[in-house]
Amino acid sequence: MSFESLGLSPEILRAVAEEGYTEPTPIQAQAIPVVLAGKDVQAAAQTGTGKTAGFTLPILNRLQPLASSSVSPAKHPIRCLVLTPTRELAAQVEASVKTYSKYVPLRSTVIYGGVNMDPQIKALMAGVEIVVATPGRLLDHVQQRTINFSQVEILVLDEADRMLDMGFIPDIRRIVALLPKKRQNLLFSATFSDDIKKLSSGILHDPVTIEVARRNATSELVRQVIYPVHKDRKRELLTHLIRTLPIPQAIVFCRTKHGANRLCGLLERDGINAAAIHSDKTQSHRTQSLEDFKGGTVNILVATDIAARGLDVDQMPYVVNYELPHVPEDYVHRIGRTGRAGSLGHAISLVSDEELRELADIEKLTKQKLERVVVEGFDSARPEGGRPARPERAARPERAPRAERPPRTEQAARPEAVEEEPAEPKVRREPEPERASLSRSHFSRPPLASMGKKPREVPALLGGLPKKTS
Ligand code: AMP
Repeated sequence: MSFESLGLSPEILRAVAEEGYTEPTPIQAQAIPVVLAGKDVQAAAQTGTGKTAGFTLPILNRLQPLASSSVSPAKHPIRCLVLTPTRELAAQVEASVKTYSKYVPLRSTVIYGGVNMDPQIKALMAGVEIVVATPGRLLDHVQQRTINFSQVEILVLDEADRMLDMGFIPDIRRIVALLPKKRQNLLFSATFSDDIKKLSSGILHDPVTIEVARRNATSELVRQVIYPVHKDRKRELLTHLIRTLPIPQAIVFCRTKHGANRLCGLLERDGINAAAIHSDKTQSHRTQSLEDFKGGTVNILVATDIAARGLDVDQMPYVVNYELPHVPEDYVHRIGRTGRAGSLGHAISLVSDEELRELADIEKLTKQKLERVVVEGFDSARPEGGRPARPERAARPERAPRAERPPRTEQAARPEAVEEEPAEPKVRREPEPERASLSRSHFSRPPLASMGKKPREVPALLGGLPKKTS
């Protein structure tokens, strides 16, 4: 199938051709005609399947007749709102919108927290048809009356499963309540849980369901290997693998921000160019690290799940799980960073005895037995210095007793959402682990009052206070 056969305009086809795309990916082939027809869509697609172009191209096509070369802001009302869970994803989606709209006079801008609001206000005042935003900062604009939703006709919820995990749903419902009722709704999600279906049934109207990948499937283009190792020797093994495999560039996942910082420092001491990226880093640091990584001056990006979500680095050859995630679905998200758009990828997991339970959960979820490779001298029974572990250590149970592990139910607060609201008092946050790794049975945000925070009243820009949110 060709892009030409999908009914896209010559201007959009030209931009697509310049990107070097020769044929639509499966999600694009299915989603583009449905979106062009103006229907609501709920689509489950793995990361790296090309879903951004899957919704952006037909949206641009639909808005093209309304595009105007006039400089008057009135000629450029917001017509499409794309909501994403993280700043990086928002920036990336907006960059794609700019790329694909190169030959169409439609304007776009990105709105997220952690940066000065003024340039965002300026862009909104100048007039912009497509706004890509994270929910927290968007609501700040609503509160300050610097955004007008009265002409919005298309709403996109991107990575909806992650927005659920991050507790953004009440914010999303507030935003949706401010939009014109008659609009097209598109919901994209890496996984398609029952909770996502519930969310979509409240927002979408008679949607067409598109599911191109098996639920929780991992890509066949990713070679997955487990390296059993003692927990105290992981960093040594990682340095060894970076040098010997070799690993030219990788995203290395840690569970915690503190762990990511520490590992980054140790790798640098080993002479490896590394940068840490997580939600405690300033936005400019995060952007710079990503640029350095893309430019090749940084080889290893040490990241937490939240920060890494949505990162799209072309040709990423390796993903390393320095620690396995608590939630097995996060493993699927993590390794989706490699093996993207047809290129072969490697996912390496350094697994200590303490993580065997997480490993079993991952293998159960993805319905596969992962290959184990023991590197001589680094087997899981050997602590620092290569000495065999003391018998009583080696004989202890696989995992610490439940009471010693972070209780999953307490992790359900908003992680980056706190950052998205710089104007409000800092919420006390549990230092470790980062709250992104949530059990899917705890999607909802804890009551704001219990977080020492007043619920945010959103004065209506249009149409009164939002209706009661669930
Ligand atoms: P996404 O899943 O939207 O994050 O896209 C993943 C990657 O696939 C991005 O780097 C896109 O530039 C690339 N991509 C999207 N559509 C195509 C296509 N039809 N052919 C080749 N690459 C594509």
